Amino acid sequence: VSRVFRCSTCAQEAPWTTPGWRCPCGGPFDLTPPRPGAGLNRAVLQLRPASLWRFREAFPFPAGWTGWRDLSLGEGGTALVVARPDRPDVTVKLELASPTLSFKDRGAVMLIARATLVGASHVVVDSSGNAGTAVAAYAARAGLPCRVFVPSTTSPTKVAQMVAHGADVVPVNGGRAAVAAAAEANAVATGAFYASHVYDPFFFEGTKTFAFEIWEQMGHQVPDVVALPVGNGTLVLGCALGFAELAAAGAISQVPRILAVQSLGCPPLALAFAEESDEPAELEASPTVAEGIAIESPPRGRQVLAAVRRTDGEIIAVSDEEILAARHELAAAGLFVEPTGAVAWAGLTRADLPAGITVVVPLCGAGIKSPG
Ligand SMILES: [Zn+2]
Repeated sequence: VSRVFRCSTCAQEAPWTTPGWRCPCGGPFDLTPPRPGAGLNRAVLQLRPASLWRFREAFPFPAGWTGWRDLSLGEGGTALVVARPDRPDVTVKLELASPTLSFKDRGAVMLIARATLVGASHVVVDSSGNAGTAVAAYAARAGLPCRVFVPSTTSPTKVAQMVAHGADVVPVNGGRAAVAAAAEANAVATGAFYASHVYDPFFFEGTKTFAFEIWEQMGHQVPDVVALPVGNGTLVLGCALGFAELAAAGAISQVPRILAVQSLGCPPLALAFAEESDEPAELEASPTVAEGIAIESPPRGRQVLAAVRRTDGEIIAVSDEEILAARHELAAAGLFVEPTGAVAWAGLTRADLPAGITVVVPLCGAGIKSPG
């Protein structure tokens, strides 16, 4: 069965090979039809190495396509460990040990795979840092010139990482929406492939493997709760997709509740959740240490709110003080994360879940990316 893009707003369809990144109506595309169970054959999985390509039948690439072998940096397959001996029910997944030191590698490899399959000649991306770094790395590997639009406030270490991969880094003044607009305009003007981690549904094909891996690593079970940072929702939506596919395939009987965590400096989804609204709240963000999730108007905000509610989950917000305290606590346990990477841990402390609840928390990005 061949899969297509379908607009989540107006249901218009396009082939997955479309060079466009969203529906002409402005709505984000999803992949359809769903294929629950594909890529989840336990006997097959047992024989394959740890990278996320072990689930390759779950991805929408043409049958027999082997281009991933040259593209892969071994992304995925991150360890799941107890963060603190006094909290054995809480495990952290070490996404910070990904090839470019953040979970974005899972989705970036999918975007560049699609770029090569549609014959892209060059790539543009907008990012607060980690997605741009990941796309720059995989574009370099694919031999595709890459331009990354970033907020002018992006950590110098992240910019250095992109430059090292040969990317042309363009700082933009203004919020994340201004950065995205600059990248879109450049893609239109130059005919570049826009490797959007927000719009392109292939990104979520990568991040859904985060859920698949948890299922395997917990002995084909899932935790009660998964606590995730949320800005654009690329991990929340991928995770929700992955657990939904596991449930639809009969591999699990219940999906974990998603505890999604924002920064109080920029909480449009937490506000909408509290107000029982279906749309992200309109707000003016204040500066926050959690640069990776400071998204005022997440284009898939509606989908994030719906996905979290479907799991009986919750969206909360934490302060910079709580984030930095969480970062310190993790570092004291041997785990150095960037501030955004400590947000979910801070949320877990704030949520104060009863003992005995099993929780998985991703540590999304390495501390060295934003040492401050
Ligand atoms: Zn549409």
